[in-house]
Amino acid sequence: MPGVGDGRPAIAELHGRCDALLASGWRRVEIAAQVTQRGESLPIPAYFNSTSVDRVLIGGIHGREPAGAIALAAYADRLLELGGSHAILLLPLLNPWGYSRHVRYGPRGQSVSDSDHLLGRAPAPACPEAAAITAFVLDAVRISPGAAVLDLHEDPVYEAPDYHLEGQGSYLYVSGDGGLTHPVAQRVYRCLEGGSFPLIKEGVTRFGERLVDGVIVDTEDGSIDELLAKKRACSPVITTELVLHTETTPPLSERLATYREVLDAFFGP
Ligand SMILES: [Zn+2]
Repeated sequence: MPGVGDGRPAIAELHGRCDALLASGWRRVEIAAQVTQRGESLPIPAYFNSTSVDRVLIGGIHGREPAGAIALAAYADRLLELGGSHAILLLPLLNPWGYSRHVRYGPRGQSVSDSDHLLGRAPAPACPEAAAITAFVLDAVRISPGAAVLDLHEDPVYEAPDYHLEGQGSYLYVSGDGGLTHPVAQRVYRCLEGGSFPLIKEGVTRFGERLVDGVIVDTEDGSIDELLAKKRACSPVITTELVLHTETTPPLSERLATYREVLDAFFGP
């Protein structure tokens, strides 16, 4: 990816890996597209192996947090097998424009999956992608009550030079009824706790949220995760964060290895 020094692959490569699912009966739908300055259209695809799903995988909402999207695309081979026993919705890269430019938000300067307009906090969608993505998850696919959601983020704390968070590690958001004690959430928790980037148990995020044992429970941040917990009764809804002190600290390869372990933990033995 030109101009981004962390070794992230091209968008076409990520989509290519996911497209390998199509030969096994998965479907691909283009939720929306983002247009670059050069007039190139970057599709935002969704993949699913059933129109009624009980697992949702999300990546690439924020452009400076590439590990989730790359890890999900690399996991497509494993999803081929898991799709035999799970009904899965895969949203691997929701903000390709941000990914390609290494910026947090989309071209309108807004979160591409902002859900405040459906949570009673805003009169209208924050941007066209937010309108399309939230409509897709609520209307185009049936997400079953109790579906488990995993949304892979990173926290580039270097964006906020005045902010300091102790430790090289990770933390979690968990939402949904009984989410924190759900076996899926417990597996992901233990995976991070015992992994290369252990949970940072105490502290305050740069968004002012207090960590309790490495977790923020039932946050109201207007995210697609809050939307799925509140409007589709998903649980657990797990948002993982790996703390980035620079673009390459820790190195992308190590973050990808951790996220593969997190995906394994999410699906379980
Ligand atoms: Zn993020």
